[in-house]
Amino acid sequence: MRLTFLGAAREVTGSCYLLEAAGLRGIIDCGMFHGDRNAEAANRMYPGFDPQTLDFVLLTHAHIDHSGLLPRLVAKGFRGPVYCTRATRDLLEVMLPDSAHIQEKEAEWANCDQHKMRKAHAHERAPLYTVTQAHEALKLLRGVSYDRMVRPHPGVRVCFRDAGHILGSAIVELWLTQDGGETKLVFSGDLGMPARPVVNDPTPIETADVLLVESTYGNRLHKGMEETRDELVHAIGDTLLRKKGNVIIPAFAVGRTQELLFLLMDLVRSRRLPRNLSVFVDSPMANAATEITLKHRGLLDEETVELLRWFRSSPDAPYLRMTESVEDSMALNRISAGAIILSASGMCDAGRIKHHLRHNLPRRESSIVIAGFQAAGTLGRQLVDSVPSVRLFRETVPVRADIYTLGGLSAHADRDALLRWLAHFRVPPRRTFVVHGEEETALGFARLLQTRLGWQVVVPERGQCEHLRE
Ligand SMILES: [Zn+2]
Ligand SMILES: [Zn+2]
Repeated sequence: MRLTFLGAAREVTGSCYLLEAAGLRGIIDCGMFHGDRNAEAANRMYPGFDPQTLDFVLLTHAHIDHSGLLPRLVAKGFRGPVYCTRATRDLLEVMLPDSAHIQEKEAEWANCDQHKMRKAHAHERAPLYTVTQAHEALKLLRGVSYDRMVRPHPGVRVCFRDAGHILGSAIVELWLTQDGGETKLVFSGDLGMPARPVVNDPTPIETADVLLVESTYGNRLHKGMEETRDELVHAIGDTLLRKKGNVIIPAFAVGRTQELLFLLMDLVRSRRLPRNLSVFVDSPMANAATEITLKHRGLLDEETVELLRWFRSSPDAPYLRMTESVEDSMALNRISAGAIILSASGMCDAGRIKHHLRHNLPRRESSIVIAGFQAAGTLGRQLVDSVPSVRLFRETVPVRADIYTLGGLSAHADRDALLRWLAHFRVPPRRTFVVHGEEETALGFARLLQTRLGWQVVVPERGQCEHLRE
C-alpha cells in the first residue's frame, strides 16, 4: 500500500494524493496549481499517471485547487466514479464550467498576443481544458451525504465528514481492507475556523492509522471575530452616514460573499447598522453560490438558519438585490451614495468588481473594504499596500477612497484551531503527513506537532511516494 503526494506538498495548491494497493488505485482531490511560474507547467503535465487505470476519485471540496484538474483527468481518459458531497457537486456544476471558460479565454489571449508579436514559430496554445470537457467531467460526479458509508471499490469504505471550511467541504475517512487487515486513512481536506458564520465547525476525528493534515495557517493566529465586526460597522457607518458615499467590497464568490451577507444582516438585526441598508451582490457566480447555499439549508449552522428566518420576516431586514445582467450591473455605477456593493473577483483582478473600483476609487466619499487574502501582484494587494493610484482598463485611476482591511474572516483554521482539532485523536496516528502549506509554514507546524504532541511527522515533497505498510 502506498501513497504518492502529487500536489499540495510544501505548497498550498494542487491538492492530489494517489493511493495504490493490490488491485486498486484511487486519488483524493484533483486540484489545480496556482500562483508561481511553475504552476502552468505543473497543470499541463497533469496527470503524471495513466488515468484509465484509476478506479475512483474522491473530492474533499469544490475549491479549484482541490477539484480544478478533474476535467483534464477526464479528457485524458478517466471514466470512473467521482465521489463528493451533494453540495460540492452542485457548486462544481457552476465552478468547473467557469474555470474552463477562464482557460479558454486565457488561451485565446495568449494566441492573439503571439499573433500581435508575429512570433513565426510560436505554437497555438490549447486551453488546459474546454467548457465541453468540464461538462463531461460533471457527468461522473456522485453526490453523497455526510456521515454515510460509501464503497467506491470492493476493498474500500469511505465516509465524508463536515470540514466546516466552505459549503459541502469534507474530511475524508477511508478504510482499506487488505490481507485480512484494515488500515484507516484520514484526509483532513481544508479545515474551517470554528465559530464562524454560515458553515458548521469541523467534525472532530478520533482515530487514524495514517493522517494527512492541512497547514495553511499553521504559523499564525487569526484576529478575533468581534474586532472584525467593529471594523465593518465603523467602515460602513462612516462611509454611508458621514461621507455619504458607497462601500465596495471585493469578495470571493463562494463562501466569502455568503459570510459577508450573514455579517451584514446580523449587524442590522442587532441594530449596530442602520435598518434601511441597501446591499447589492453583483456577480453571477456569487449569486449562483448563494442560491446553492440556500438550497442546502440543512448544512448551515443554527445561527444562520435563525438569521435567515429573521431576514424573511422582519421589516427591518436590509434591501438585498442580486444583479445578473450587464445592464443592471452598469446601472449600479450611477448610484453615488448609500450602496454596499459586493462583487468578484475577490482579489480585484477580474470580473465586475473592476468597474465598481473604477467608479469609486477616485471618490473620497466612498470606501473599499478588503475582506479576504490578497496575493502579491494583484490589484487588491496594491490597495492593501496603499498605493496612490492604480491602472484599470488602461487608465490611471487615483485612489482617494478610504481602504479598510478586515483581518478576521478566514475559511481556514488558524494554528491553535488546527492543534485543537488534532487533540481529538485518542492515540497518535501511526503516520502523520503535514500537507497544504507553504514550505516554511508546513515545516514549522510539523515541528510543533513533534514537540507539543510528540507525534512522528513527515512533510512530504511533491512527487514523494510513501509505503504505508510492509
Ligand atoms: Zn479550500
Ligand atoms: Zn485548499
